[in-house]
Amino acid sequence: MDATGLCDNCGKSGRLYTCMLCGRRVCADCIDAGKRACKNCKGGRTTGGTTTLR
Ligand SMILES: [Zn+2]
Ligand SMILES: [Zn+2]
Repeated sequence: MDATGLCDNCGKSGRLYTCMLCGRRVCADCIDAGKRACKNCKGGRTTGGTTTLR
C-alpha cells in the first residue's frame, strides 16, 4: 500500500504516509515513524515559529 503523491505538509513529491491523527498524507520527512503522526500533530514545535531543521 505505497501511496505516492505530494506531501500535504511540505509539498514535496514522494512516498506518502497517512497521519494517524489528522489523516493527512505526508512524506517521510514530515511524519514521525514511531508515532505515525505528522509534524503538525506530533508536538508543539510548530507553535511559535516555523523553523525547518535541515
Ligand atoms: Zn513533507
Ligand atoms: Zn497529522
